Amino acid sequence: MLKLYNTLSRKKESIKSKPGKKLRLFVCGPTVYDYSHLGHARTYIAFDAFVTFLRSQGYRVDYLQNITDIDDKIIRRAKEKNLPPKSIARMFEKEYLKDMKSLGISSVNKYARATDHIPEIISQIKRLLKKKYAYEVEGDGIYYDISRFKEYGKLSRRTTLQAEDAVSRIDESIKKRNKGDFALWKLAQHRTTVSGAGFSEPSWNSPWGKGRPGWHIEDTAITEKRFGAQYELHGGAKDLIFPHHEAEIAQMEAISGKKPMARHWMHTGFLTVNKGKMSKSLGNFVTVQNFLDAHSPRILRLLVLKAHYRSPIDYSENLLLQIEQELQRIDEFINKIRNPKSEIRNKPEFQISKFKTQFKAALEDDFNTPKAIAVVFDIITKGNILLAKGNLSKTDSKTILNFLKEVDEIFGFIFSKEKKTVIPLNILNLLDEREKYRKEAQWQKADTIRKKLLGQGWQIDDTSQGPKLKRI
Ligand code: AMP
Repeated sequence: MLKLYNTLSRKKESIKSKPGKKLRLFVCGPTVYDYSHLGHARTYIAFDAFVTFLRSQGYRVDYLQNITDIDDKIIRRAKEKNLPPKSIARMFEKEYLKDMKSLGISSVNKYARATDHIPEIISQIKRLLKKKYAYEVEGDGIYYDISRFKEYGKLSRRTTLQAEDAVSRIDESIKKRNKGDFALWKLAQHRTTVSGAGFSEPSWNSPWGKGRPGWHIEDTAITEKRFGAQYELHGGAKDLIFPHHEAEIAQMEAISGKKPMARHWMHTGFLTVNKGKMSKSLGNFVTVQNFLDAHSPRILRLLVLKAHYRSPIDYSENLLLQIEQELQRIDEFINKIRNPKSEIRNKPEFQISKFKTQFKAALEDDFNTPKAIAVVFDIITKGNILLAKGNLSKTDSKTILNFLKEVDEIFGFIFSKEKKTVIPLNILNLLDEREKYRKEAQWQKADTIRKKLLGQGWQIDDTSQGPKLKRI
């Protein structure tokens, strides 16, 4: 039976769904003002593998993610670039979706933009005002009164008195009732760009005047529309526990009077660099696109899934090298069982069922991917021993390959999906010709060929192991 650690109870618990039944999962999506980095990839790869595993077990997962396409950071970036905030948001949303595809993430059923849910957001704020969980600050906006929600802090285990650090982004106002109160609706203010051109913040009509939604209300509006007031599972990285997820609970449970909003809360650990969180603001990030220019997505998927989803991962060159070696070990093994060198005996000997049981048990125990991956390497060790003795039958090889295919469906790093680039013969001949000129120190002629290759879409990188061709 599947058990997961629940941030709300701080215990491992079974989730409230069964194979064959619906399981609604909401994971906080990105704020689209810049390219995604490896920290984002860590969180979204972990949830992708988790959802794929659940589906392989028969759960009917409805996986919803929001896209924060209105936010201070987007407005700031728009000012810097002198572009409308909407253009910035649409551009980086496109890049985000492209990155997710490159990483093999295809499990999300619906991406929902905040700005497509303004009527739902307004409806939630109206209900909060009616129930007196929200109040208006003249000329500023609508705020949530955290002192009215007695259970504020139940997810993060903080008390209302500690809640002053809830203030972020657009939540500042000297007229608030409590320091930790957060904005639900912020009235538009007219601002000026650096270049001096008039710059109006994006705004929408509302009963309280033109303005824009606070950060937390978009998520409850989106989930209420698709899931209703209560659902099974909510996820995100652990920096979101407070104030974001705490605020979501306060909003939705106050509106509906039903609790819990989400039965189960799942939070991923950070991807760090020298133990510090990888983030845009610290400037210690590697974008997904820069990473994928140099490495295969398999490397990132194994790197992420080799750690338990709740543990931190400290990203380093050494870790990358280690992961590359492990993938090489997988590739060599698959190659050997696909193309056996010697005659292999016919009698099946390999007991795959034991490994399958261990693999499933590991994933059912709080999605313990490192343990499940260790089972895959145990198979490789055992398989290699049998291969060395000529004791792996054709049936065994097939059984192992079939199981590895099942594992690949979930983890996505077992088989290399990269298409090998085929270099046409005339291009190879030109490369040889250039090398000949280079050896004879005929640099001009060598350079003419380099340019010719470039014109045909091939770039030469002169490396310590000789010239390498790259398709551009
Ligand atoms: P953001 O676009 O900053 O709102 O982040 C989108 C998602 O990625 C949120 O769930 C973040 O918590 C998560 N995230 C951001 N940085 C990291 C990191 N270094 N490690 C793991 N998850 C992260």
